Formats: sequence, structure tokens, C-alpha cells
Amino acid sequence: MMTKIPQRSSNNFETKMFYLKKPLRFVPLLILTGFLFANTSLAQTEFKLDGIIIETNAKHIDPAAFKAKITLAFELLKTKAPSDYATMKSFIGKIRAYQASGANFNEDIMTIDIAKATFDASLEWLTSVLAHETTHIKKYKDTGKKFGDAHLLTDKKAALQIMINEELDCNKVQLAVLEKVGGAKYEIDYLRAQKGDHFDIDKDGDYDMDDYKGRKW
Ligand SMILES: [Zn+2]
Repeated sequence: MMTKIPQRSSNNFETKMFYLKKPLRFVPLLILTGFLFANTSLAQTEFKLDGIIIETNAKHIDPAAFKAKITLAFELLKTKAPSDYATMKSFIGKIRAYQASGANFNEDIMTIDIAKATFDASLEWLTSVLAHETTHIKKYKDTGKKFGDAHLLTDKKAALQIMINEELDCNKVQLAVLEKVGGAKYEIDYLRAQKGDHFDIDKDGDYDMDDYKGRKW
């Protein structure tokens, strides 16, 4: 007589565990996905300030500080340089905390990116940067060219000159705003001394990813 092979009934504990195990394997994945989602949405929040979306990002700048200082910059620009404020309002859809500062034409909404170093400068400087980046975006909207479409030129020297000219135009607007909002003398002197090639960080005569990655402002 054969030894009876024990049959597992459906009430058997191990059998239950077997059926439970499979779906349980997905639980950590679900938790992880949920965590990442919550993390992203917590890191990034947005609100509207006078019609412009302000996107905070805890990864780059403390959200409460970003909200407070951008609000002050808006107030300063509105009271001391109302025409520049009106220009910003008509061309800019979003201002966000980001890893590098700059005019961002590549978003659906025309965006000014603000990095920590720019943010940590004086309120007057930050305010003047809003006017600087607005000018880049206004030029794009007026001409359809991004930074003068310098990247389309094969002649790198000519391309650099186009970018320098655009920078000088934006610096001019920024300087006027910096003076209107009461920027410090050292800031005004610093901006006046710029040759328009501040984007060429590695000074190799062009502006490329090496420069972008080398930027901390
Ligand atoms: Zn610029």
C-alpha cells in the first residue's frame, strides 16, 4: 500500500500563501511608484501670481522662499519699472525654480528658469534678471529666432557674435531695470562691465552643453 500523499486542501495555509504571494510581489512596486509620484508632486507645486504661473521646486530652491522672493520681485518691478513689468506680463507664462537660469523657449509656455545662485542674489538683481530673460523671450516672439538662431550657423565665430549681440541687448534692458529698482553700485558696475559673452563659461568661443553644464547661476 502506498503511503498516502498528503493532499493540500484549499484551506491549507501554505496554499493560501501561495496565492497571496503573487499579487504581493507587486506591492513594493506600487509603493515605490506611489512614493515617486508623491515625491515629484511634493517637490513641484505651482500657483498663479498676477496671471503668471510660479512653479516652485524643492529640489532646487526652498518653495516658501521662492514664493516670497518672487512675489517681492514682482512688486518691485511693478512699482519701480511698470513698463518692464507690463512687458514681462505680456510675454512670460511661467517662472520656475530650476537648475540653471535662463529664458526657456522650449516649453509650451514661455518660461523663465531661475537657479539658486540667481535666486540668492539681491532682490534687485533677481528682479533685473526677470527683465533680462523677458527680453530674450520677447526677441524670440518678435523674430521667431531662439538666441538669434545662432545654433543654425556653421560659422561658429559669427554665431558667437550673434549671441553676444543678443546678450548685450538683454543686458541693456537689465541695466536700466537694475538702476530703476535701486540696484547696488557693485551690481550696476558688474553688469556694465559685461561683454555679452558671460554664457561662454569655458571661453572656447562657443556656447554649448559644456557651458550649460558648467553654469551654476
Ligand atoms: Zn541672456
